[in-house]
Amino acid sequence: MEYSFAPIPRKAENPSVDPLSLARKLLEAGPICDYCLGRRFAGLPGKLSNLERGSLLRGALGFSNTPPENCWVCGGVFLRVPSWAKKARDLSQEHEFKTFLFGVHLSPRLEATEEFLAERFPSPWAEPIRRHLNRTLGQAFAELLREEGREVTVDYAHPNVQFLVDIEQDEVQLQVNPVVFYGRYRKLVRGIAQTAWTCPRCRGKGCEVCGGTGKLAANSVEELVLPVFLEATGGNGGSFHGAGREDADARMLGRGRPFLLTVEWPRRRTVDLAWVAEEVRRRSQGAVELLDLQPATPELEEKVKAGKFAKRYWAKITFLAPVSEEAFQRAVAGIRGEILQRTPERVSHRRADLVRRRRVFSAHGRLLSPTEAELVLTCEAGLYVKELVSGDQGRTKPSLSELLGVPAQVTALDVLEILDNTSVEVPDSEG
Ligand SMILES: [Zn+2]
Ligand SMILES: [Zn+2]
Repeated sequence: MEYSFAPIPRKAENPSVDPLSLARKLLEAGPICDYCLGRRFAGLPGKLSNLERGSLLRGALGFSNTPPENCWVCGGVFLRVPSWAKKARDLSQEHEFKTFLFGVHLSPRLEATEEFLAERFPSPWAEPIRRHLNRTLGQAFAELLREEGREVTVDYAHPNVQFLVDIEQDEVQLQVNPVVFYGRYRKLVRGIAQTAWTCPRCRGKGCEVCGGTGKLAANSVEELVLPVFLEATGGNGGSFHGAGREDADARMLGRGRPFLLTVEWPRRRTVDLAWVAEEVRRRSQGAVELLDLQPATPELEEKVKAGKFAKRYWAKITFLAPVSEEAFQRAVAGIRGEILQRTPERVSHRRADLVRRRRVFSAHGRLLSPTEAELVLTCEAGLYVKELVSGDQGRTKPSLSELLGVPAQVTALDVLEILDNTSVEVPDSEG
């Protein structure tokens, strides 16, 4: 290819450095390739590549061409770019991705040359060789895939796949980054935990506490959902993260609870989410349903991880002694408003022992018999409903038991709705 000489500005940010005399010094110091010569001037205005810039300067100064393999700076490292790009293509062939990023592990020799160049031939326009290599690799790789009809682009923040080129070892390593899905789950039967509930006594080996199963709940949403996602994506592992959790014995109804499902090392990122939802429903025999499945966005991930939402509950309650309708309604009115709740006894092993101030936004109930009632409550995030009813031996105040003067206990609990949508009205309080 021929280049006509384009004028290079003699004065730049640093008036003490003149590009042409710096280029001459570099060319006189030893055999240097156009990639490495041009890289010392990468920051000069213009749209030329380093290779083009190097060639131009060499021509302008009347120096003859240097084969890159003789270059004292890089030893011809840029000639190896196409083979690394091919290796990266081969490594990643079985994985679906749209974005990628290259990184290089420089050899000690290249590191030393970089330092030497900066010391002996300082240039205000120089680009680090690492960045030059990363970019050249990325361009070669994208071009290779384009020839195969695949469009991929560099993503510096959240690439689907990453390649690390070890120059000394002449090795390319692939890292497939996880794919994350967002959804909402409904749990239509009781006795399903949210995540696998390993028996704390035997730690999964099986003992008399867990009946030899190693688990305290026979099944979990995670165990029902994750394998289907792994099948759909071809991933090799993953995790389930709910926006909070309900007890295993509570159903999760309404529009379900938001969750994130992360799949490690996926082969496919574009999956048939309707198939996933249907398969989960079928395999769980209707016990678990997934709604709203979609690829997670940073906003959705943040929402699930923050996970603090008001909720509406339904609770069935049993009283130790008969209560009157009037006394019951008075007690229900009494639990509306602010509740002081010390960390419940049953969770104190995994939560800090604190007194929390939580609001009951609304509470309505009716007696089913003198010793049974049902209650519908709308509560602030983090309020424990079972303890609001039982009083938890005085740790929750006020409580339905305390107000009635009769011990009361939740015998069945459902989450009717997670109020995470701002369009859902949460009444402040009612009298
Ligand atoms: Zn070179
Ligand atoms: Zn056990």
